[in-house]
Amino acid sequence: MAVDLTPDDAARSVAERTRAFVRGTVLAVEREHRGSAHALPEQVRLDLQAAARQAGVFCPHLPPRWGGLGIDRRGQALVFEEAGYSLFGPLALNIAAPDEGNMHLLAAVADPDQQERYLRPLAAGLIRSCFAMTEPAPGAGSDPSALATTARPVSGGWVLNGRKWFTTGADGAAFAIVMARTSGQPGDRGGATMFLVDTDAPGLELVRTIETLDEAMVGGHGEFLLQDCFVPADRVLGAVDQGFDNAQVRLAPARLTHCMRWLGLARHAQDVALDRAAGRRAFGSALADLGMIQQMLADSEIEIEASRALILRAAWELDSGGRAAQSTSVAKAFVAEAVWRIVDRSLQICGSLGVSGDLMLGRYLREVRPFRIYDGPSETHRWAISRRAVKRRAQERDAAVRGALPA
Ligand SMILES: Cc1cc2nc3c(=O)[nH]c(=O)nc-3n(C[C@H](O)[C@H](O)[C@H](O)COP(=O)(O)OP(=O)(O)OC[C@H]3O[C@@H](n4cnc5c(N)ncnc54)[C@H](O)[C@@H]3O)c2cc1C
Repeated sequence: MAVDLTPDDAARSVAERTRAFVRGTVLAVEREHRGSAHALPEQVRLDLQAAARQAGVFCPHLPPRWGGLGIDRRGQALVFEEAGYSLFGPLALNIAAPDEGNMHLLAAVADPDQQERYLRPLAAGLIRSCFAMTEPAPGAGSDPSALATTARPVSGGWVLNGRKWFTTGADGAAFAIVMARTSGQPGDRGGATMFLVDTDAPGLELVRTIETLDEAMVGGHGEFLLQDCFVPADRVLGAVDQGFDNAQVRLAPARLTHCMRWLGLARHAQDVALDRAAGRRAFGSALADLGMIQQMLADSEIEIEASRALILRAAWELDSGGRAAQSTSVAKAFVAEAVWRIVDRSLQICGSLGVSGDLMLGRYLREVRPFRIYDGPSETHRWAISRRAVKRRAQERDAAVRGALPA
């Protein structure tokens, strides 16, 4: 099949409007709050989203039946990158993690009643959500099969017990999608189920918000304790014991949309560096005319272009109905490391100003660092990518032995 990376005209126009909206409205709010959203007043989120609606860029990723603009993944690559130019852009458009990934999951997997109860208000920005998979050791982390939280069947539903942490958006979320074990033992590859748990359900307690390097995600990263938490039977999301399969519906696209948003922030950092390099003089010339600065600027340009190409390639595969496990892994591992290098170079080019609170680069650097860990650490992705490569080459060797292919 021919690879078509062209976003359609409607997506281009939303991307242009998003660019104007983020620069004209959102960046000032980001500056006012120093890019920190862990304890952002709810009214700021609501005001930003009302402004995004007015600008015609709200909820670009969902189909019109959920109030969205119906833009496909290639179009999202453009729009999300423009939104990501500010730390608060994704929040304004209602495409921030984890809500954006949860909306996609609910649209794909939830039954009609669950969609009305959870997806409709989430898509409208009336509520927020969170996704609780990761557990403190020895529970689920890079290896989801270590899942230790249990769900026991009882009359009318299930009783959940366990501990979850690093649940982004937990403080203030209306509901959590909780992954729990309904069969098997920690270490088994199956036996997980997803549950829609209202955060005011008895037995679910937000014990703390974890202090972290990053601060730009509304609601912070929470730790939940589940103690005999009753969940009605109609709140099972998807089929019982199919939780790991359903997680795949969310994980590959969600890691790609993270790449799109963070690429926007890296571009912003590069713009700051370009402006500084043009205006600051040292040793008789503009910084931009010094070879080592040129190398840093060029390397960042190359990595921005390469990141965008990898994102679009994976987006095309998702648009074509593929699972895109390999292409999203490749994009995630590359982009997560590239955006770190780009923001780091920008800070270096700005010298002491880069470290100061007069610019936002220090905050941006702290924001992009955890992306090398969540949605699969770089090492986990490389492990999966290399295993697929070894398997592919073994198949090619077998085909050569059978005479079906030259070696
Ligand atoms: C800011 C942030 C937000 C998050 N938000 C959420 C959320 O909303 N919901 C949620 O469920 N989780 C969330 N997480 C958790 C995240 O998904 C996990 O941190 C991630 O899956 C890694 O698990 P772990 O932290 O337990 O690391 P571990 O599993 O303990 O791994 C530690 C390290 O081991 C190495 N490693 C792992 N696998 C391999 C391998 N195959 N080969 C070689 N080395 C390897 C890597 O270097 C890795 O960083 C978030 C994490 C962060 C930092």
